Amino acid sequence: METLDAHKVLKTVHLKPVFWTREEILFVTGHCPFPSFLHRFHLSESDSCACGEVGDPIHYATSCPLTLSWHISKPSTSLESLWYQRVLENPNSRKRIINMIKYIIDNENIMRLL
Ligand SMILES: [Zn+2]
Repeated sequence: METLDAHKVLKTVHLKPVFWTREEILFVTGHCPFPSFLHRFHLSESDSCACGEVGDPIHYATSCPLTLSWHISKPSTSLESLWYQRVLENPNSRKRIINMIKYIIDNENIMRLL
């Protein structure tokens, strides 16, 4: 998978960095608490979500059954960074992402395969 340049994405979104919540930064950078991140840094044996698929931010935001209430539409694979940009420029999607990340943090132990 293509590595996402989070700083580039953040720069393209027309919002001052001061307005970014911790949740949104975690989402764009793909850092904790995502299993894909924990696995990359050997903090977890598995990069899988509890549902069995790779637990990266896009998985939780678009297809994971555990975060169904906050789903937004999937990116086409070639336009991943554009997708992040669109999501973060849309107040409704941002709200969903923030609530979803809060949920993932609160329920970290059930969100990944240990
Ligand atoms: Zn999942």
